[in-house]
Amino acid sequence: MNKEVTLNKIFLRTFGCQMNEYDSELVRSILEAARYVFVDQETEADIILLNTCAVRENANRKVHGAVHAIRHKLNGKPAFIGVLGCIASHLKEELLRDRNFPIDFIAGPDSYRQLPELIKSVVAGPGACPDTGDDDKKGQPHLVDLSDFETYEDIYPSRQEGVNAWIAVMRGCNNFCSFCVVPYARGRERSRAPGGVVAEARHLSADGYKQVTLLGQNVNSYHFGQTDFCDLLGMVSEVDGIERIRFTSPHPKDTSNTLIEVMAINPKVCKHIHFPLQSGNSRILQIMNRSYTKERYLEIVDHMRAQCPDIAITTDIIIGFPTETDEEFEDTVEVMKKVEFDSAFIFKYSPRKGTLAEKKYLDDVPEEKKTERIVTLNKIQMDHSLKRNEAMIGQTVPILIERIKKEEGVSTAAGRSDGNKLVVVPDQNYQIGDFLTVTVMSASPHLLRAEAIDE
Ligand code: SF4
Repeated sequence: MNKEVTLNKIFLRTFGCQMNEYDSELVRSILEAARYVFVDQETEADIILLNTCAVRENANRKVHGAVHAIRHKLNGKPAFIGVLGCIASHLKEELLRDRNFPIDFIAGPDSYRQLPELIKSVVAGPGACPDTGDDDKKGQPHLVDLSDFETYEDIYPSRQEGVNAWIAVMRGCNNFCSFCVVPYARGRERSRAPGGVVAEARHLSADGYKQVTLLGQNVNSYHFGQTDFCDLLGMVSEVDGIERIRFTSPHPKDTSNTLIEVMAINPKVCKHIHFPLQSGNSRILQIMNRSYTKERYLEIVDHMRAQCPDIAITTDIIIGFPTETDEEFEDTVEVMKKVEFDSAFIFKYSPRKGTLAEKKYLDDVPEEKKTERIVTLNKIQMDHSLKRNEAMIGQTVPILIERIKKEEGVSTAAGRSDGNKLVVVPDQNYQIGDFLTVTVMSASPHLLRAEAIDE
């Protein structure tokens, strides 16, 4: 019997960010075209794919844990396990060298077009694998080269149901922030042709999607010929049926006045920006290689609020970066108090292998100090989230329904406001994808409760 034909059931699990979610949709599309089928349980699968993320702490440990847990669940049932994504390209040598790590192949984020061939060769057994290179210590197949050109332009991702569709408009990053592995794991920046992005948005509209989120590691540095990110937003907003456009993640250094103007005047571009601060101290920002100062960051925020008073601003902050003093941490507190973010993801610094910060600095802020700082910032953020949400009580806003939930006989609908706030309303037979106009009745730090207005 031909193994290539019979071993075609795939289980795919995704870790990490929206870009990885999008990449998993690409992987599905590529493999479905090669007549593989996707299953919901690891135990039903012939091939198990883990699309991994190297950005957060202990990524390597997490993927090891996941692989061992899957092997345990399989309880001896044979299945091939492949590690995809950032960890595959970033920790290639470690993964391949580790003889106690029961995986069968790895493929980095620019190699997905070759996955059908790679899987076919793995299934066919030793000797049938593609060229695995000189550094292959374990004889396992791997495809991890990064590309300067790959954007998967011609592949329409196989998406799960929902109201939002991700569209990757650029891949990779040239910024080399000193704490970040993305430039090493995902390679250099490259942007898709605008015509391809608009065609994908049209296709999505025809498929019933009402919202698209333009994705890129550094989305506002998008550039293709004469077309910049602001032009691209304008082009996508002309697609009939696409009612909302979001984007993530922009870099402050690439945030122009024109982008702020587009957000202010284009009704389809949502009034929400995820605007990573990372630190409020200019010396720390400099050694993070972030290319802006505390003052410049605050200046941009002031301009956003002046042009677009309702804008919701969220952020990422790293505390305890090497050499950060108490006084320098206080600058971050000061920026938070000035901006009053709608929400924030706050992380303790921990070194990532191969980054500039890992090579150059000792991780010298004691753990207790990091904990103290993160507790302080989380408390401030909780107060600000509540304050920003309470300010919306009494306002009338449109929401796009994303979920209907029934609990103990009570049905509620949950949607997002233009500013990306989670809003919950009593359900009145709404459908996922409905737009509703609601009045906000009450607020907590994490959500708004509202009532629909009869129209
Ligand atoms: S901009 Fe900085 S933090 Fe963002 S992906 Fe690039 S290197 Fe990483």
